[in-house]
Amino acid sequence: MKLILLGAPGAGKGTQAEIICQHLNIPAISTGNIIREALNSGTEMGLKAKSYMDSGKLVPDEVVINIIKERLAQDDCKNGFILDGFPRTIAQAEALDRMGIEIDRVIDIEVPDEKITERLSGRRVCGECGASYHLLYKKPQVEGVCDKCRGALVQRKDDQPQTILERLAVYHDQTEPLKGYYEKKGKLFIVEGQEEVADTTKLTLAALED
Ligand code: AMP
Repeated sequence: MKLILLGAPGAGKGTQAEIICQHLNIPAISTGNIIREALNSGTEMGLKAKSYMDSGKLVPDEVVINIIKERLAQDDCKNGFILDGFPRTIAQAEALDRMGIEIDRVIDIEVPDEKITERLSGRRVCGECGASYHLLYKKPQVEGVCDKCRGALVQRKDDQPQTILERLAVYHDQTEPLKGYYEKKGKLFIVEGQEEVADTTKLTLAALED
């Protein structure tokens, strides 16, 4: 199954992608994670992307399209994949079409902007393994410490209030039009994001089976 998860930053795409990935045994591919890894290892691409990412802007299409082209050519994508955070513009969706990739379903996770702001500003991530927590909704066992690897939890630069507003504006302007793009192709399934992750997961899995 070839899937796309759409939705605003902080809608819960990453969490759902991890769950579906285990359920269907296909890789979850997050362009945001690939870019952050490149940045941490100081590659040219990572450094190029840094200023866009830190200010909440999108990294240029040609950069992310190349990342996806390379990643989808790897062996583990043969039986399908879940894209989390790609495409984010119509140009990226068209590039995916030009690669000859036939997407089966696009699941759009809808969460109101106020909720997104609350979620992102309370999000903390492990600086070592990238695991995600929340100050109110998903507390680690020990404050400030990752349950999985004991790494220190940090706030992503782009989860700071001003940048969150910019990311939401970018989402509505450049990414939301993708809903219409995939609806026209009959591929769009909408899931209302719930308070509890498990409840959103039920809806997401149901959307895969419809
Ligand atoms: P994410 O972790 O998915 O929220 O992505 C974090 C940041 O990485 C975004 O705010 C963008 O700066 C960049 N990014 C990730 N995916 C894309 C994409 N498909 N197109 C452009 N920029 C992206």
